[in-house]
Amino acid sequence: MIKRRDFLKIAALSTVTMATSPLHAETATETPSVKSYRAIGKTGLKMSDISFGGGKLSAASMVLRAVDSGITYFDTAPDYGQSEKEIGEAMGRIQREKIIIASKFCNAAPNPGHLPFGSKKKDYIAAVEGSLSRMKTDYLDFCLVHAIGSMSKDLEAEKKRLLDDEMLEAAADLKKAGKIRFLGTSSHGPDNMEALLMTAVKSGHFDMIQPAFNFMNFPKLPEVMAEAYKLGMGVIAMKTLAGAKDMKIEGTKNEFPLAAFRWVLKNPEVSGLIVTMKTVADMELYLKASGEKFTSADQRTLERYARLYGSEYCRTGCGQCQGSCAAGVEIASIMRYRMYFRDYGMEKRAMQSYALLKNKATACFACGDPACVGSCPYGLPVQDMLCDAHESMSFMA
Ligand code: SF4
Ligand code: SF4
Repeated sequence: MIKRRDFLKIAALSTVTMATSPLHAETATETPSVKSYRAIGKTGLKMSDISFGGGKLSAASMVLRAVDSGITYFDTAPDYGQSEKEIGEAMGRIQREKIIIASKFCNAAPNPGHLPFGSKKKDYIAAVEGSLSRMKTDYLDFCLVHAIGSMSKDLEAEKKRLLDDEMLEAAADLKKAGKIRFLGTSSHGPDNMEALLMTAVKSGHFDMIQPAFNFMNFPKLPEVMAEAYKLGMGVIAMKTLAGAKDMKIEGTKNEFPLAAFRWVLKNPEVSGLIVTMKTVADMELYLKASGEKFTSADQRTLERYARLYGSEYCRTGCGQCQGSCAAGVEIASIMRYRMYFRDYGMEKRAMQSYALLKNKATACFACGDPACVGSCPYGLPVQDMLCDAHESMSFMA
């Protein structure tokens, strides 16, 4: 049920967006909109090249604005705070068949709520039923085994979660019942991202993969993406802003995100990208990259970003320092949560996620032999960053 206050907000926004919709020729040049749609593998679905990452979604009006701007693909999850609920609030004003919704096999708990290996078929089904109920819809277009490579350092253990019979049987039943259409999986590491995604691609069970992918260091990912593409799977890129350190690099007039998106989209295997859109201003900026070609000026912008931030950005999905710490500190996960806290404006989610880690960065303050520093090939000041992460994200630092 849409609350009266939200209804009024939505109605007012709808009036505004109708007036500025790309469908209305008189203002078509004023509001950036989607210019390109791409096939998601062999699913028969096409997505907007710049699409909506719902990790920070807190208002139904953003969904309506996105639809009005031509965005067709919405990525969400039960553990993304209010995200699914806000999509549900907007649902009554959306033609459901015109949009694509992807959610995850997760519990509606503080992130990460991913269903662990050992979950039963009924748990997977209940997770999807919960998503459908919150979003007031009868089906998901995609349901993903989420964040593969994040629940265990052990490759074989995560393979079990990825290919769990209970999950596959639940997916088959949900497909038969028309409650999900396609199966996908996502990964931002920190462990074995590329190996796990290749396993997913070769398993024949998945229709789409969603890797962390950007212009900074994913050496083996192109091989995985090429194989997925060859087999007719969709490839949807996330974490495309390489840490999103500084959206207004001096002298580049906000061009960094556009350059980063155009770099991702120049790869023909990529069906589209998802990016968190916190505000209408974010959406309008990001949509300027839709349908645009990557240029030599973009290349210079990315090189400048890499020079400025290359030694601060913990490469999502890298994980090369994992295992270097005798105290077992979960380095790469902590670095990712620090990125959410410092650069993504997702402080609450970062703090909740950090609180759930078993091996936090408490040992780093007194550590006289920071092996993690030497193990990072990009020269990141790992110990300092971990101490900063602990101080920033601990409820009781
Ligand atoms: S700290 Fe360095 S080695 Fe560790 S995950 Fe980040 S970039 Fe990779
Ligand atoms: S600083 Fe020391 S305790 Fe902290 S992660 Fe590095 S090696 Fe481990």
